[in-house]
Amino acid sequence: MHLFSDYHLHPQGHRLQPYSQELLQPWADHARQIGLCDIALTDHDRYHRGVDFDEIDRLRAANPDLKIRVGIELDNDPVHSADGRRWVEKNWDRLDFVLGSVHFLERPDQMFDSVPAGAEQFAGRNIDEIYADYFQRVREVAATGLVDCLSHLDLIKIHGHRPRAKIETLVGGTLDFIAARGLCLELSTAGWRKPVNELYPSDQIIHLAIAKDIHFTTASDAHSHVQQGENFERLAAKMSELGLREVSVFERHKRSAVPL
Ligand SMILES: [Zn+2]
Ligand SMILES: [Zn+2]
Repeated sequence: MHLFSDYHLHPQGHRLQPYSQELLQPWADHARQIGLCDIALTDHDRYHRGVDFDEIDRLRAANPDLKIRVGIELDNDPVHSADGRRWVEKNWDRLDFVLGSVHFLERPDQMFDSVPAGAEQFAGRNIDEIYADYFQRVREVAATGLVDCLSHLDLIKIHGHRPRAKIETLVGGTLDFIAARGLCLELSTAGWRKPVNELYPSDQIIHLAIAKDIHFTTASDAHSHVQQGENFERLAAKMSELGLREVSVFERHKRSAVPL
């Protein structure tokens, strides 16, 4: 089973870098080299000013063998994401794919998933409450109506904190909400390079999602072009094990399922 699509990529990395062929072509080259043929560029919404639809068209023209989707990762950033939401609304018809993410809990100045500083927010706290609060925020992102797929659904486990309550109790309502709206989840190999060292989401959550007929994209959350498709062989093995035989791709927010 060969995975061919990576639907979570950050050409701008961690700072504003306006799209240009110099910035983007290495992503196309590396994607082709490792056997990817369908990729979605999903920079963080706080860098939306760097996204240039004309540059994407040029990239597509220069790489007709690849499907290159234009997207964004819409965060719950208390400072920037109101502007991000307006940008997504304004450009909805030009975008193929929008990811919805929760990176912020109570502190507006600190992403909880930054390693190691973000973990301070968990110190001495009730982990079940943190999980419940996190999944409530995921529901709020899903409810905006501006996302096609939820990123790294159980990112809250990043530093290795585990709840006492059953995960089904904590995430079940959120999965029902996602299923009711017909949204996708991503299978993200990024968790394998974080302290928790586990796929996002966990096997248990994937089983629950399958039972609710939720569909999946495949993703690396690459912040460098060479990180595309990271651990995709391992992910393919995991998908076989879980009985997942198809992957979802998007064009202008329309999902289709491709057999693997
Ligand atoms: Zn993210
Ligand atoms: Zn990301």
